[in-house]
Amino acid sequence: MKVRSLELVSFRNFKTLSLDLSPPLHVFSGLNAQGKSNLLEALTLLSGRKPFRAAKDEEMILFGENEGSVKAAVEHRGGESQIQIFLSKNARKKALLNGKTVSRANPLTGIMALVLFTPEDVLTPSGPSGARRALLDNFLCQVSADYREAWDRYQELLTQRQRLLGQIAGEGASADLLDPWDKLLAEAGSRVVLERAGAAPGIAERARRFYAGIAGEEEKAGGELVLKYERSWERSTERNVAGDGSREFFERRLRQERAEEIRRGRTLTGPHRDDFSFWLGEKPLKRFGSRGQHRSAILSVKLAEWEALRERWQEGPLLMLDDVFSELDERRRQALLGLLRSGGQVFLTTAEAGAIELPGTEKGSPAFWRLEEGRLERLTNRNARP
Ligand code: ATP
Ligand code: MG
Repeated sequence: MKVRSLELVSFRNFKTLSLDLSPPLHVFSGLNAQGKSNLLEALTLLSGRKPFRAAKDEEMILFGENEGSVKAAVEHRGGESQIQIFLSKNARKKALLNGKTVSRANPLTGIMALVLFTPEDVLTPSGPSGARRALLDNFLCQVSADYREAWDRYQELLTQRQRLLGQIAGEGASADLLDPWDKLLAEAGSRVVLERAGAAPGIAERARRFYAGIAGEEEKAGGELVLKYERSWERSTERNVAGDGSREFFERRLRQERAEEIRRGRTLTGPHRDDFSFWLGEKPLKRFGSRGQHRSAILSVKLAEWEALRERWQEGPLLMLDDVFSELDERRRQALLGLLRSGGQVFLTTAEAGAIELPGTEKGSPAFWRLEEGRLERLTNRNARP
């Protein structure tokens, strides 16, 4: 899959921008605050995913304007599609696929698969477990509509159950009211847990391989990257019990935890409390890893997702790596660049283009762009300094 062209109007710091994106590899360089990340954000928007920085859609409209838009021609298995997103201060975001309105942004997902790395992702291995669960969810939502449906449903049920727990504790409602909810929750939740458990080993194995490739021989002593999917009831911080996540098991857990859940006013068992933890050999990365190791580890998981999506769809998703090179030593940078040749369209941003030597692929040589205050210029000499 490939974005052939991109047009922005009043998007972030771009007044207008029109780009031919045919080559497979694109490097956007420029000083800080010139619009490199903004450009990736525009591409993300096309996929139907939540924009990666804006809390509200209207934040992406150029300051002082009331409307903005992002338009792209995308080549994919099914042919070529035009995707347009309109942003307005006075109305909800609107998405058009080949000129027809799509009711929710989701139908775009099958067309624009993407994997995104942002500088904030470095915090994933050590931060709250939600970001680590999201690694599995992002992947699974892009390969299975069933999974997306189960996960959305689970989260809805969870909110409703939460309210009920409050009513039981606060207003003395009967605990029996939980019975039907627990049945539904266990049903949706077990689908989520079983799918995550099915996908996790594949992602972990690919990530281990990518990590070894990036970290190289000299890292061997530090240990291999190990990722462990831990169901909520298996986590060492919880009451540690074994269980596969079948519906019956799940329902039983909810029953066992009921009194405690009413007391604490929240649901303690289920996929909203799973983890996908990072280890180097036998040591938890978050306690012993260096910054570079954290970055290499999360990057390896993103690359794993990229490869798995490529196999699943038989075409590469977009890979976007925002400011990926900082904190990586020269060896790791070169190793990463080598890995990026394996296929699909790749977008890289960097504040130091001079440091990047990108080999061509059989599909063509990379395009180097320089960004200055929302204006883009294609460089002929890739070593031209930003
Ligand atoms: P860095 O190397 O620091 O990551 P960058 O090139 O990625 O920089 P961006 O985050 O893409 O920079 O762009 C930041 C610039 O865009 C800032 O100057 C910011 O003020 C501007 N900006 C953000 N939102 C808008 C908007 N809605 N309208 C106009 N300008 C905006
Ligand atoms: Mg940036």
